[in-house]
Amino acid sequence: MLLNIVEKITLVVSRAVKPKDTTYFPEKNPEVKQKSERFRGKHFINAETCIGCFACERACPIGAIIMVPTGLKRPRAMPVVNLGRCCYCGMCEDACPTKEKSIYLTTDYELIIKEIDLTPELDELWAKPVGDITKNALVLKDLQKQKEKEQKQTEEG
Ligand code: SF4
Ligand code: SF4
Repeated sequence: MLLNIVEKITLVVSRAVKPKDTTYFPEKNPEVKQKSERFRGKHFINAETCIGCFACERACPIGAIIMVPTGLKRPRAMPVVNLGRCCYCGMCEDACPTKEKSIYLTTDYELIIKEIDLTPELDELWAKPVGDITKNALVLKDLQKQKEKEQKQTEEG
């Protein structure tokens, strides 16, 4: 017992004097910004080249992309990525058929995601899905959740 306590105190003291494992960013450690070319960060979507083909949405293995109607003839819809859900696999980029990729992952990793779940704005869109996205199991789960929420609200109010 005593040995255990001594061990723990030693651990705490050693941790207190040890240099930090974490680093300040970006003010005190700007070199953290240097990353490999293959780093996969936030997406860039090019509205000028996108043809609204839905390939990125279909390729996404976890339903992180929804196609949002543009109201235009071409592209009739454009992808919106839920960055909180995305696993940054790059499959959307691989699937994009345009000569110059209309969706690609940049090296920009400075992002803060407050909600892993969908934002209220996107919830609205997910409730009215377009394309094959309704076949995605995660989307179905979200839709079910949304439906239950609406049902509960109707019952309460
Ligand atoms: S990077 Fe992968 S998970 Fe993220 S949106 Fe593209 S396909 Fe989906
Ligand atoms: S795959 Fe490319 S062209 Fe097709 S909708 Fe997605 S971003 Fe647009």
